[in-house]
Amino acid sequence: MADLQNVVILGSTGSIGRSALSVLEHDCGRRLRAVGLAARSSWRELIDQARTHRPRWVALTDPDSASLVDGQLRGTGTELLSGRDGLVRMVQEPEVDKVVSAIVGAAGLESTWAALEAGKAVALANKETLVVGGPLITALARERNAPLLPVDSEHSAIFQCLRSGEPREVRRVILTSSGGPFRGKTRRELEGVTPEQALRHPTWQMGPKITIDSATLMNKALEVIEARWLFDLGPEQIEVVVHPESVVHSMVEFVDGSVIAQLSPPDMRLPIQYALTYPDRVDCPSPRLDLSRGWDLHFEPPDRETFPCLELGFEVMRRGGTAGAALNAANEAAVKRFLDREIAFLDIPRACRAALDHHEYDPRPSLSTLGAVDARARQEVARWVP
Ligand code: NAD
Ligand code: MG
Repeated sequence: MADLQNVVILGSTGSIGRSALSVLEHDCGRRLRAVGLAARSSWRELIDQARTHRPRWVALTDPDSASLVDGQLRGTGTELLSGRDGLVRMVQEPEVDKVVSAIVGAAGLESTWAALEAGKAVALANKETLVVGGPLITALARERNAPLLPVDSEHSAIFQCLRSGEPREVRRVILTSSGGPFRGKTRRELEGVTPEQALRHPTWQMGPKITIDSATLMNKALEVIEARWLFDLGPEQIEVVVHPESVVHSMVEFVDGSVIAQLSPPDMRLPIQYALTYPDRVDCPSPRLDLSRGWDLHFEPPDRETFPCLELGFEVMRRGGTAGAALNAANEAAVKRFLDREIAFLDIPRACRAALDHHEYDPRPSLSTLGAVDARARQEVARWVP
């Protein structure tokens, strides 16, 4: 029987965070126990989660929300931490074994960095961290001997398929994409789409930012970059195929031409659990694939003209350096402006293109340079006029 592992969930009130808690509930404290939960401002849900899971700490990065919790945790044995320092302190506590990194956006980088620095195993959902600082993050993980395990379903699939061969035997990885809610549409048809239409994803239930990214295909762009750093692949080794059913989560082709795929119904609890129990496999709360009902699985090339974000991802993956930080920050700012109805859907790639072209490129940036590039790209998109 494996030892009981103490888990911190960063972003526990989000879509991935809730699924992670569902995995822990199913485990019934046999292998995994929540010792820390963190969110930005959703204090009511965080208190509910604390009452159920009885962690050692809860943390809110927004101090005003933290002040509302005051007193409500008295006598529960749970300590409240506040601000970004609270997250850093929590992930570095000696009794923490594993950290689920599920904050959305570059805001998740600091606490993910802190966890790796302290040598904790990180189950990484927060792809933006690798998009911004891939080479620095993977170097830190290696230096601290901190396992960095993918939660993103495509990367979990690749990680699982890679167990079929040696790294030198890999020819390429093929990331699958559902195509999002606008698959098959033309650019004209996308001109006037509203946030409500873009938020309706056909196969996955997720937070608003990644749902918009799935509609523009920026999510796949970020995942291409994530795959490059996570698996140490060359730019020419990564491809994307559209697969609307979201059953094949990705594939790896080996040098002999054999293609290994990972299949399961679309449910994030499986990749989250695998990242937490690896190298073991145990019973999981997500539904099973029922092949007896008959399946039609489709694969088609992505429409790169209608969805220019995908090409931006490939370009940024090839360039490396500060390009990822610029693209990611520009996209976060553009998605926010689209959701606020200030810019149109098709303006998202345009604003990203502009921020990427104007940024001061540095091929070997430090963490502080990446922070500066991030801040400038956000300002640029905030001022950007369609
Ligand atoms: P979400 O919006 O549902 O949840 C975000 C969580 O992060 C919330 O708990 C929120 O309180 C917290 N948070 C937001 N900003 C914060 C900040 N500045 N400081 C501290 N906490 C903050 O998002 P999600 O869909 O769960 O996605 C989380 C991450 O996982 C993203 O990076 C996303 O790309 C990735 N991911 C999500 C899915 C999915 O199915 N939802 C799949 C693959 C990868
Ligand atoms: Mg994914």
